[in-house]
Amino acid sequence: MLEVEPSSQIEEPPLSRSAEDLKEFVSAGQGRWADLPASQWQDWRWQLQNRITSYEQLEGLAPNLAPEERAGALAASRKLAMSITPYFFNLIDFKDPGCPIRRQVIPRVEETQSAPGELTDPCDEDSHSPVPGLVHGYPDRVLMLVTDRCASYCRYCTRSRLVGRAPTESFESRLDQQIDYISRTPAVRDVLLSGGDPLLLNDQKLESILERLRAIRHVEFLRIGTRVPIFLPQRITKELCAILRRFHPLFISIHSNHPRELTVEARTALERLADAGIPLGNQSVLLRGVNDNPDVMKAHVQKLLMCRVRPYYLYQCDPVHGTAHLRTSVNTGLQIMRSLRGHTTGYAVPAYVIDAPGGGGKVPICEDSVLSWTTDRILIRNYEGRIFEYRQLPSHKPGSHQ
Ligand code: SF4
Repeated sequence: MLEVEPSSQIEEPPLSRSAEDLKEFVSAGQGRWADLPASQWQDWRWQLQNRITSYEQLEGLAPNLAPEERAGALAASRKLAMSITPYFFNLIDFKDPGCPIRRQVIPRVEETQSAPGELTDPCDEDSHSPVPGLVHGYPDRVLMLVTDRCASYCRYCTRSRLVGRAPTESFESRLDQQIDYISRTPAVRDVLLSGGDPLLLNDQKLESILERLRAIRHVEFLRIGTRVPIFLPQRITKELCAILRRFHPLFISIHSNHPRELTVEARTALERLADAGIPLGNQSVLLRGVNDNPDVMKAHVQKLLMCRVRPYYLYQCDPVHGTAHLRTSVNTGLQIMRSLRGHTTGYAVPAYVIDAPGGGGKVPICEDSVLSWTTDRILIRNYEGRIFEYRQLPSHKPGSHQ
């Protein structure tokens, strides 16, 4: 077993592409799998069956791994499994040790270390779970964990305690309990399917879950959280879209962190979903050496709009065990937000949030734009730092329209 000491001082990796390059939509191509028939490469099941999951496979495909990555890949099975689709693997630039794609999916030895404040279940989902695999944290909405599988595993995953493990109980029986809970809880009007990745379920299974939820009268709104359009865009087939469009209103939140993830293939998948009438939002996680840079983030949010995806949340990375090397400061997040607000399309500006450790829910993090107020005036600061006064009606009472 290769032992590597993690460095205590984490260097800021350089920006590995120019801001202009990051705006380009480039195909991932078949790369190392160039000899494979295109029909097989496009088959999402082939992509899943041929994921890179072992140290030996990784070493065979990427002989110039860093010692920290070798040790990380060897240790991965003890924590969060390694798994990378061939499609996403082709996006890694192995000539670049700081490649932002590489940092998200190749394990590193630092994952075996714990830093102060790190937790196994940072959002305290487990204690808000009335039945197995269902989280009821907010009054009118629930989160259903419908699978523990993802197309690839993100090294900073908040649910690393759950995903990619040998299942200890059948998701089938959990599903019955979850749907039963929702049907006898009239306060629940919004259901988010997540996991793991719900779009890894086969069409019939997914359709059956959506049908059962739509049969519950008080369930108004359905959402799916998925990273499949980014890790496995081949899965977004016309057949899948034909199923999804039957269950409107249905929204999808994707998870993309860096402009290089938005390839020609990902854009095609996202356009297919948008053409099925599905509103698309994106949730990014702020990650050191991946997107903690104003130029990268601006290129990313603008490119998302070009894929018809509205940047929705930018998450401060949750303090999960073994993620210190990927986390950055809240101050960096605020600097990035300052570089976006007023400097690009309002639709491109996500809400920057911390999912409060201990189960407090998402808390927006913003710098004060309201400097002071009295009964009749408010002092506000705009994106350029200029100060303005807004006069409000002193007699105005909430709810009065005079
Ligand atoms: S896709 Fe989501 S659930 Fe799966 S490993 Fe990544 S962050 Fe975790």
